[in-house]
Amino acid sequence: MSVRVRYAPSPTGLQHIGGVRTALFNYFYAKAQGGDFLLRVEDTDRERYSEESLDDLYQTLNWLDVKWDEGPIVGGPYGPYIQSERFELYQKYAKMLVEKDMAYYCYCTPERLERVRKEQKESKSSVQGYDRHCSNLTKEQRDELEKQGIKPVIRLRVPLEGKTTFHDVLMGDITRKNKDVSPDPVLLKSDGFPTYHLANVVDDHLMGITHIMRAQEWIPSGPLHILLYKAFGWEPPVYCHLPMVMGKDGQKLSKRHGSTSVKDFREKGYLPEALMNYVTLVGWSYDDKSEFFSKEELEKIFDITKIHKAPGVFDYKKLDWFNGQYIRKLSDQELKEKVLPYLVKEGFVDEPITKEQDDILNKLIPCVKPRLKVLSDIVALSKFLFTEPEVAEKEMFVAKKMDLASSTTALIKAYDILKSGLDSDKPFEEIESEICDVAKEMEVKVNAVFTPLRVALTSSTVSLPMNDTVTLLGKEKCYKRIERAIEMLKGEI
Ligand code: ZN
Repeated sequence: MSVRVRYAPSPTGLQHIGGVRTALFNYFYAKAQGGDFLLRVEDTDRERYSEESLDDLYQTLNWLDVKWDEGPIVGGPYGPYIQSERFELYQKYAKMLVEKDMAYYCYCTPERLERVRKEQKESKSSVQGYDRHCSNLTKEQRDELEKQGIKPVIRLRVPLEGKTTFHDVLMGDITRKNKDVSPDPVLLKSDGFPTYHLANVVDDHLMGITHIMRAQEWIPSGPLHILLYKAFGWEPPVYCHLPMVMGKDGQKLSKRHGSTSVKDFREKGYLPEALMNYVTLVGWSYDDKSEFFSKEELEKIFDITKIHKAPGVFDYKKLDWFNGQYIRKLSDQELKEKVLPYLVKEGFVDEPITKEQDDILNKLIPCVKPRLKVLSDIVALSKFLFTEPEVAEKEMFVAKKMDLASSTTALIKAYDILKSGLDSDKPFEEIESEICDVAKEMEVKVNAVFTPLRVALTSSTVSLPMNDTVTLLGKEKCYKRIERAIEMLKGEI
């Protein structure tokens, strides 16, 4: 039997790291097994649904170049793949269970349910949840309630006796006493909408899903789903609940740790290849050493048995490192194309780019390539080049253990050396070493001399190496900026 797996998100928010990891595990498993990867949109919760989330889902998968074999847009033999377009089916299957007496109509009003809940709470009753009030209504009783115009829900008849076991590839057997399973959960709401459990199980069956890989938070629903499969008389799929994704502090990954939405990562300038590579390694590994995997490789080697049992840790620093590595692998031309939108957005270059800007960019790219963690870093690193920044605040010129007067002196001395060096075409290493001598002579750290120089040239404390900065800017601009800074500083002492 060929493998069929699915990613079944609910479009109630932006795609986040955990969700995307689930999608990738499913996708890679399908590809490695020569099977099919389905996308199914579980949009039964209309209150939390948002169009933006659905767009974000498509955009995210497209950005990662994860193509679904069946699903929305592309279609397939088991469509539609959007649950809100399948409502009639769920009604049909819910009624089927009623006919088999595996489910029943419940006419309880929300007020009654609330009253029961309160009573249970006050009496500290061991029975929690629905009290099965309507589980044995006669035909006459039902007709009477229908006559009153009450629209019923359909509830699953959970057995009172016995227990239910479901097998998970990673966790082994998970057994629950039936009396501990939620008493008779709603399958179909009174407005005809299915609940998650019904729609999810019916669709997985009808779509021929063979393996379910989903977040571990769904484990508690496992026994209930098995009971549903049994009630229908269907064979359940293989389950593989994925270990949690945590932050470094051992807590479930959330906004507290930083960005979690893929959209944020995309906008900051993470490369899809890097994110995909790193996210796949959160809770999975091929062996103890290999770290770099292309999408094509993962499509061949991904193996469900190598998913870890322990939670995976999402380390932002590690992702940055991966991203840097992937950036360094780009050709200058590729990197130029990728950073261009960031420069256009800042107004640093025109669209279309002018010849002059393009020339600057061609020189800039090799200088920034070893330093970028994310593409958007280009903005801070190149601002000095594309704009004429204001002279920096005086405090910025002053390195640790220095004051304004000594920093000004250091800058004046460094400027003399730089200017005469550049004017006589001295190799830059020599100029630099002479500037280092200034530090020695003043009995201060090297940084104390280079800081005012760097700030004078770039008005920023993040910058490229001095050599690159000077070359990119050109002699004349350098002189002008340093003179401007000296003048300002002198006025402040
Ligand atoms: Zn009821």
